[in-house]
Amino acid sequence: MASNGYRNGTGTNKGAIKPPASSNIRSSSFKSRLPPSSNHSPGSALRRTSSASFTTAAGGDGVPGRVRVAVRLRPRNAEESTADADFADCVELQPELKRLKLRKNNWESETYEFDEVLTEFASQKRVYEVVAKPVVESVLDGYNGTVMAYGQTGTGKTFTLGRLGEEDTSARGIMVRSMEEILVNVSRETDSISVSYLQLYMETIQDLLDPANDNISIVEDPRTGDVSLPGATHVEIKDEQSFLELLRLGEAHRIAANTKLNTESSRSHAILMVHVKRSVLGEEVAIPTESDKSSHFVKPPKPLVRKSKLVLVDLAGSERVQKSGSEGHMLEEAKSINLSLSALGKCINALAENSAHVPIRDSKLTRLLRDSFGGTARTSLIVTIGPSPRHRGETASTILFGQRAMKVENMLRIKEEFDYKSLARRLEIQLDKLIAENERQQKAFDDEVERINLEAQNRVSEVERNFTDALEKERLKCQMEYMESVKKLEEKMIENQQKHQHDGFMKDKCNGEGPGFCEDIAVIKKLLEKETHMRKEAEKEVNKLKSQLGQHMDAGAGGDAEILKLQIALEDEVHQKKKLEEEIIILRSQMLQLTFEADQMRRCLARGGSGNAYPGLDSPMSQVRDSLSGHKTPVSALFDQVGVEKILDLLESEDANVRIHAVKVVANLAAEEANQERIVEAGGLTSLLMLLRSYEDETVRRVAAGAIANLAMNEANQELIMVQGGISLLSTTASDAEDPQTLRMVAGAIANLCGNDKLQATLRSEGGIKALLGMVRCRHPDVLSQVARGIANFAKCESRASTNGIRSGRSLLIDEGALPWIVQNANNDAAPIRRHIELALCHLAQHEANAKDMINGGALWELVRITRDCSREDIRSLARRTLNSSLLFRSEMRRLRIEL
Ligand code: ADP
Ligand code: MG
Repeated sequence: MASNGYRNGTGTNKGAIKPPASSNIRSSSFKSRLPPSSNHSPGSALRRTSSASFTTAAGGDGVPGRVRVAVRLRPRNAEESTADADFADCVELQPELKRLKLRKNNWESETYEFDEVLTEFASQKRVYEVVAKPVVESVLDGYNGTVMAYGQTGTGKTFTLGRLGEEDTSARGIMVRSMEEILVNVSRETDSISVSYLQLYMETIQDLLDPANDNISIVEDPRTGDVSLPGATHVEIKDEQSFLELLRLGEAHRIAANTKLNTESSRSHAILMVHVKRSVLGEEVAIPTESDKSSHFVKPPKPLVRKSKLVLVDLAGSERVQKSGSEGHMLEEAKSINLSLSALGKCINALAENSAHVPIRDSKLTRLLRDSFGGTARTSLIVTIGPSPRHRGETASTILFGQRAMKVENMLRIKEEFDYKSLARRLEIQLDKLIAENERQQKAFDDEVERINLEAQNRVSEVERNFTDALEKERLKCQMEYMESVKKLEEKMIENQQKHQHDGFMKDKCNGEGPGFCEDIAVIKKLLEKETHMRKEAEKEVNKLKSQLGQHMDAGAGGDAEILKLQIALEDEVHQKKKLEEEIIILRSQMLQLTFEADQMRRCLARGGSGNAYPGLDSPMSQVRDSLSGHKTPVSALFDQVGVEKILDLLESEDANVRIHAVKVVANLAAEEANQERIVEAGGLTSLLMLLRSYEDETVRRVAAGAIANLAMNEANQELIMVQGGISLLSTTASDAEDPQTLRMVAGAIANLCGNDKLQATLRSEGGIKALLGMVRCRHPDVLSQVARGIANFAKCESRASTNGIRSGRSLLIDEGALPWIVQNANNDAAPIRRHIELALCHLAQHEANAKDMINGGALWELVRITRDCSREDIRSLARRTLNSSLLFRSEMRRLRIEL
């Protein structure tokens, strides 16, 4: 039998703090039991203390706490007011002294002292605060708590505990107020509150929340002594409203039997159990490490869950059965009610007297209240009494019950459990945080690796680029040097030749022509004379035959056979003549070519030049000089002799050799301005373009392009070239050609067209600029120089048009993507390229619409360089002027802190 445990919670602490010896002072006139004030320890383990003195001291893990008892007097009801009108109340209260006087008769009374004496005027709020609040606070701190109302039926137990106060909130009883207090103090996130509502009726426990569940068994934990009702419904409470609903529901289910004493009173015990589960953190624990006793490893606070239980018991009426007037079944019922109550009384007596045996097993009520009343809970008892002298006996017994209860001491224990669930949850959260952090760091690491890789790649490609550039520069330099030395050698050779052959030349009939050429020409001349002679002979013969034919015709028809013969002979002769004529033309053209070449050679030798075959492109000065001097070159003289049409006819000859000769002759003729008009008039330009279109032979194309380039120096011809689709033909030639000389010719032709203001748009739309830029793939300086010239010409025309307000907007060159090449070659080692590009940059910079692209493309730096390094003063100052007149350039220079 766990009687010791029942009395003190745990037997071990029994006697550690002894309950005070009964200090009940009994005298005939004054019966009192002073509250054991020595028990009110200031070092309470409870964190909250109520203003009311009702709070019991408690400390440590299991401390004793006496059952607190208050008495409450109900005001007289209507019936009593009438029936007892002539009698005084059976009790007299001295609330300030916490005393109650029970009248025995008019001159004798007994005085009892309670923890609290509540008069008939005591408000529900005050009753809650002095009776229940300390218990509720204790429950919130993790202790079990019990509030019981004991008293005769009709004295106000239900009024005190169970009033819902729906109409008048000030009427709310202890149940509602306790729940309010709990709800205010718990955390919705971490804590939980659940409620069971039961009634004990005739030794049977019924679930007031589920009336079908009418035989709930009590389970006691033999180890802890905790009592639980696993079969009872637990309803989670989230707010006051849901709790009120639940109380109403319970009340509706409650069996209320009428008695004579109170039509509303209940014969059952109503038990409301509020389970509170709160999450708290334990204290940090410092653990000394093995290596160093002084240093402490601080363990993080453990998550704990505190479970506590508040039991509110509205006991059935304590009146004696006989008085209730019950009969039959009602009598049995009354007995059962009293069984539980009397068992409670007996237990309290035993506990109060420290008796060895506490008969808790005698009733369900005592078993149920085992861990509440006289167990490990903080307990308050409110005894309710009525004022009527007619019930004096019941009132007295109620008062004595309360007095005995005051001696009962509980052992308070906080019930804390290690909350594995919440620890696991916390660790899981921590783990997730660490995983996320790890992932973040991994990502940052990967990004960094990627960045470094990219940087490395960029650096490698930059080095590669620099290397290729350097290599290319070196190659070009070598090429230039090589060409330079070849040129020098050639010059030297010519010089030597000149020295050795000076005398021979002077004597030569051909005025400076080489002996080989002269011999050739002499031979050809002879041949020509011979052929001419033969032709004349043939013509004579034809005439003779014609006259003979006439004679024969006259002679009559008899000579038909003769005529036929003669006709055949005539046809032969005509054919022969035609052949001869062709031969003559070929010979003439050959001679023309040779003459021209000799002429060239002579001129070159005379000025020590490089012997360019097509002077029109690179030495316009010589041409001008020749035309100014008024001399007709030998080739022109021959041209006069042969006739342009005949030469152009040869361009279409089936003989490739003839074609090549012819085109060379045309090209040479075209190099002289004086011939150009005639060539064009005779359809030479069309024929040349046709050659570009239909022949794949590189030489034909090169020479034809050269001729077109020469013709393209003339503005009227430029337009003709365009009209006849010359741009696209030149473009196709440019993209097909491999030979730098071909490209040079084509670039030269396009460069000339670029200088025509009217052709800008067409040139662009037909792909001329693209073709020009495409040719830079051949890095030959002659080609690049022509490209640069074309760009400069184009930029100049655009600039002019913009200045005249004819065009606006960005340069077509920039649109076509020329800028990078321009910037790249602005400081080209080859002077002609550099000069053209410097001019092009100055032209482009003159228009604000180009400024932004030029800044972005790095052209500004080149312009600044031009203002400083350009060898030509006029270009230097042009660049400076241009930069200074542009708002955008000026502001960019300010930004870059560049000063001109
Ligand atoms: P019990 O539950 O003890 O049988 P009740 O709480 O039902 O008694 O009360 C009986 C009657 O007395 C009810 O009508 C109740 O309103 C009234 N009553 C009880 N206590 C008080 C009080 N302190 N002030 C006013 N009326 C009271
Ligand atoms: Mg009641």
